[in-house]
Amino acid sequence: MKLKPKILIVYTGGTIGMIRSEKGTYIPFTLKRILDSVPQINNMGIDIVVESFETPMDSAFIGPKEWLKISRIISHKYNQVDGFVVLHGTDTMAYTSSALSFLLRGLDKPVILTGAQIPIYEKESDGVGNFINALQIAKEGKVREVGLWFHKTLYKGACVTKSHSKGFKGFSSPNHPVLASKEQTVNYNRLAFSSGSFDRLFFDKIQSNVFYLNLLPQSQKELQAKVIRQNTIEGIVLSTFGSGTVPLKEKDSLFKALKNKKIPIIVVTECFEGGLELGKYEAGSILKKLDVISGKNMTKESAITKMMIGTANFKDNLDLRDFLEENQVGEF
Ligand code: ASP
Repeated sequence: MKLKPKILIVYTGGTIGMIRSEKGTYIPFTLKRILDSVPQINNMGIDIVVESFETPMDSAFIGPKEWLKISRIISHKYNQVDGFVVLHGTDTMAYTSSALSFLLRGLDKPVILTGAQIPIYEKESDGVGNFINALQIAKEGKVREVGLWFHKTLYKGACVTKSHSKGFKGFSSPNHPVLASKEQTVNYNRLAFSSGSFDRLFFDKIQSNVFYLNLLPQSQKELQAKVIRQNTIEGIVLSTFGSGTVPLKEKDSLFKALKNKKIPIIVVTECFEGGLELGKYEAGSILKKLDVISGKNMTKESAITKMMIGTANFKDNLDLRDFLEENQVGEF
């Protein structure tokens, strides 16, 4: 008899499992309560095993330490199960899916994150559908990478961003095709799948000394220069206008601070769609002098987590630069 696929559910918290506190605010609750709300799981032809954070969290509190915790759970159980579903709050789910994509490069099993905009026990919840579909994708095992399932769509883990704070279609992947979408059944978009050419490389280190430098029309450049000069920062993700313009001049203290720091800088655009085209405008040409790395069409979530993982794992500058410049998991 063929064994049923075994899926590991990792429960971190998030709205999907929240209840109302006495104050009226939403707080995370137990995985058991979620599982009890979805009896359909018993008829899906899967065996489930579960791992829950001891204290389920609002994803506002999830960061590098928790990303490593999730990736370690996955890598420890990797050979014992056929796929993974991570239940997670939506607010920072795109950061976690990006971090897991880089931490767990070269997967040959699905790792699917999902959550909900409305708790699973409430009548109008999107949680049941999201959870069941994520389990189904994990069971089918066609996608062998990190994906984020939300509202009938499977996004590539390193290319997704939260784009709606309340609507059921909470996520978008503005510069990359989706991995699958559902009408009556799930239609996979194989052209968007990871080509399988990425060697298996599970990293076990991450560091958070990465500065997200947001250049705005009213940027307080002196203040930003001070922060850069005075702090231990190992990498910068610099957000530009449009296709890569910046309000920087060589005489600016911010330019000098960036130049003197001698750390890698990945540039991304603040625009939701379209990505960068460095070198198009004179107002961006100064970036050449900073020897920046183009983040092309990466999301900020992807650029920040890639920098955190790259700087933690490559001490040689050339190796680090190669890691940052090259496509690791389909993020470009
Ligand atoms: N604040 C919640 C969280 O991210 C929102 C959600 O799950 O949708 O944990």
